[in-house]
Amino acid sequence: MTQRTAAVIGSGFGGLALAIRLQSAGIQTTLIEGREKPGGRAYVWEDKGFKFDAGPTVITDPSCLEELFELSGRKLSDYVELLPVAPFSETSGTFVNCEGRVQSFNGVARPHGEARPAWKVLRVLGNLLGLQGFDADTSEQVRDQALAGDVAARLAQPATVDLAALGPIAAPALPGSQLERVAHVMPYGGDPVVRRANSLQQTRHAQVPPACIHPDTLAALGLAAGDVVRVEQGSGAARVTAVADAGVAPGVVWLATAHAATAGLASMFGAVSVRKD
Ligand SMILES: Cc1cc2nc3c(=O)[nH]c(=O)nc-3n(C[C@H](O)[C@H](O)[C@H](O)COP(=O)(O)OP(=O)(O)OC[C@H]3O[C@@H](n4cnc5c(N)ncnc54)[C@H](O)[C@@H]3O)c2cc1C
Repeated sequence: MTQRTAAVIGSGFGGLALAIRLQSAGIQTTLIEGREKPGGRAYVWEDKGFKFDAGPTVITDPSCLEELFELSGRKLSDYVELLPVAPFSETSGTFVNCEGRVQSFNGVARPHGEARPAWKVLRVLGNLLGLQGFDADTSEQVRDQALAGDVAARLAQPATVDLAALGPIAAPALPGSQLERVAHVMPYGGDPVVRRANSLQQTRHAQVPPACIHPDTLAALGLAAGDVVRVEQGSGAARVTAVADAGVAPGVVWLATAHAATAGLASMFGAVSVRKD
């Protein structure tokens, strides 16, 4: 019988896992990587004597890794020890958003089994390694040390080009009367935790999104702000309210995704049609 062969392009977690499965199934597999080392998003590099591990913050499904090791006749635990850490719902902590806005929160349940908040696990590891700076007793102490001073200023990334000198940027002309959908993801519609929170689903950020359209485009379509419209894309449709928004480029329909009302639409971007419902 001819030896079956396969080539896998890209050696991130996906490519590595596939190549291991194929090779374990007796298919002679070649893994092709564009960079000089495997890893993809979990790539490791060194610079000025420091090692940067871009790998996952947490392994969300260790059983997948265990299975891959077993397929190759190995044991994951012979190579690494994974320590269980609590998800953010089971620990207090602090989020800092891109604007530097700081929001602290409490855990709402006890950590499951042997899991502990990640900062406590890191503190113990730091102590075992005899490192300095791993002596906080509460997540608030960690926050106060990490966020001392002006957080927003530390996050600021000044633009290296003079945006004003670029002048107004004209939207590219769309062919004929084509309308283009541009979507953002509803803040409480994608993440599996927040989309199940009844409280968040009652906020205005979770309500049926409107179709925001430039006033000139709205007029050209014979529509008025407040009209209930049918937006069609691919084989799907959504029934939403039209809103006049001069901040949206002419020819564009800005309509959010990650909401039941727009779930039938084909994709976040692409040609759409709009008419009065
Ligand atoms: C900001 C961020 C944080 C994340 N945090 C976590 C986390 O905490 N826990 C978790 O479980 N997951 C996390 N993920 C998800 C996880 O990192 C990805 O799901 C995973 O790395 C995807 O693996 P992949 O193999 O599909 O792609 P990648 O890891 O992107 O690998 C693709 C590889 O293909 C190579 N390649 C591409 N094109 C070619 C070509 N033409 N020829 C040759 N090589 C090519 C690239 O160089 C790269 O090495 C995070 C993702 C992001 C973006």
